[in-house]
Amino acid sequence: MARDSTSSPSHPGTVAVLGAGTMGHGIAQVMAQAQHRVTLYDPDRTALTRALEAIEGNLAKGVELGKVAPEERDETLARIHTFPNLDQGVEGATVVVEAIPERADLKKALFRQVEPLIASDTLLASNTSSLSIQELALILDEPGRFLGLHFFNPVHIMKLVEIVHGPETDREAVDRALALVEGMGKEPIVVKDSPGFASSRLGVALGLEAIRMVEEGVASARDIDRAMELGYRHPMGPLRLTDLIGLDVRLEIAEYLHRSLGQDHFDPPELLRRMVDEGKLGQKAGQGFYSWED
Ligand code: NAD
Repeated sequence: MARDSTSSPSHPGTVAVLGAGTMGHGIAQVMAQAQHRVTLYDPDRTALTRALEAIEGNLAKGVELGKVAPEERDETLARIHTFPNLDQGVEGATVVVEAIPERADLKKALFRQVEPLIASDTLLASNTSSLSIQELALILDEPGRFLGLHFFNPVHIMKLVEIVHGPETDREAVDRALALVEGMGKEPIVVKDSPGFASSRLGVALGLEAIRMVEEGVASARDIDRAMELGYRHPMGPLRLTDLIGLDVRLEIAEYLHRSLGQDHFDPPELLRRMVDEGKLGQKAGQGFYSWED
């Protein structure tokens, strides 16, 4: 049986974050900085320890830079409670944000376990970067309160949050998500559930076109990047960004967008496939469109 909850997620309440990895620890931090009590759940105890260390590190850096007061650091840390067990991890939650690996089967299995443990008015969100919100919602008894809350990495720095609504998402859920995101001092955009949402679809289209231009010898990678940095004020050109994201990750998303949208401009360029085959995956491999070796 679902339990009742009374507090509103736009006001300080308990936010449960499921998954304490790269994104989960950042989401826990920003929620706690926005005065919410946070429960952070991960079955892997080491992940919980690492998450707390990472949050402490982020806050310490904030204090060093004068962006976070020492009291805010202490209060934020005191609001975060970690649990390796799901029942405790979602207890009293007015909002649940899932940030476990990008696999629909894993996420659905978790939602099936979570739904009976939370109140029927608890907002349920996924931080998925690419999966269909509608498909994930199919597993739920109450899909109206479910939506995508797509944060960007690193969460405590990046302002943007995509709120992704499926056909079954209630307007009230979107309004609650907007209030939640604004309460964290972040900038929400509202996007209909569709492949790549807004950010990946545009970002990948630009990145692939830049790769095709390198392939055709239009200009060097550096000069193509400078065109966008200096001509359009992008903080970073599309090829350097592809190196940071990983060419393999970009290829996978391009294939997915090509399959699901059926548009030729998402057909991955031969050069991208070849570089991935050769292990030139970008920064993490030391070589991509740029050399990252020291
Ligand atoms: P990650 O691998 O860093 O962390 C995932 C965490 O989930 C791990 O700590 C793991 O122990 C835990 N986990 C695994 N199964 C679980 C389960 N059943 N219940 C609870 N916890 C479980 O992953 P990440 O990079 O933080 O990505 C999480 C989600 O955020 C994915 O959907 C991803 O697509 C999305 N996302 C990632 C980024 C990014 O840059 N990394 C950006 C935006 C969105």
